Amino acid sequence: MCTVMIKQFTFNHFEVNCYLIVDPTTRHCAIVDPAPEASFEDAQLTQYIESEQMTVTHILLTHAHVDHIAGLRQCCEHYHLPVSMHAEGRKLLRQAEAWGTMMGFAVDNMGDLEVVELNDGDVIQVGGERAEGGDMRAEVRGMRAEGGSPNNQTQQPPTSDLQPPTSNLRPPTSIECRYVPGHCPGSLCFVVPSEKAVLTGDALFHYSIGRTDLPGGDYPTLIEKLKTRILTLPDDYRVLPGHGIESLIGKERKYNSFLNA
Ligand SMILES: [Zn+2]
Repeated sequence: MCTVMIKQFTFNHFEVNCYLIVDPTTRHCAIVDPAPEASFEDAQLTQYIESEQMTVTHILLTHAHVDHIAGLRQCCEHYHLPVSMHAEGRKLLRQAEAWGTMMGFAVDNMGDLEVVELNDGDVIQVGGERAEGGDMRAEVRGMRAEGGSPNNQTQQPPTSDLQPPTSNLRPPTSIECRYVPGHCPGSLCFVVPSEKAVLTGDALFHYSIGRTDLPGGDYPTLIEKLKTRILTLPDDYRVLPGHGIESLIGKERKYNSFLNA
């Protein structure tokens, strides 16, 4: 059995952390922030997925800054999948080429890519469902997490059509979307309760936060959202950021000088 639940890669000259969230039962996985820039990076990602016999079912964006989407088009085309993201990030997809020119990425505009819109509270299910047929891709159920609590891991999805195969020993891997704007329009964080982890994109870093001086950025909004939507997670949740090393919610609450004032 595959034991990797969240696999990290670091890609491109901005050193973006790209993650795979893997459902160990089915080996279905979601790619978060497909950032490979060079062809060898693209090969590193696809060959790993192939060698681990994984099936990519979702491509997720924490946000659409060009360093986080450097390999988005290739991933969508390679895996024949839409990109799942917050609607407010669409403008950045349409502007990718211009941002790439400024930031040193050779990318085209990506406004033509098929988008599945994610909203605050949506829960994405990776693996476990429709294993005996049907389209397993782009399954965003739009289920609202009750109170946003990550602790109730025995809570069953409030739908009747989820029928995990009886051979599965565990339910699908759930990923909860939390809307955390302030770094850029449409920023999402992804909470993975089964792994006690939150992927924070460029909203929250180890003892730091994302910049707010780019278009659509807003410092008070970022601080308020981090305090009310992310620091409310338990202390032992891993913080897996879009750049740099990982942290823990408890450490950020205590030592992140942007947040503990
Ligand atoms: Zn960013």
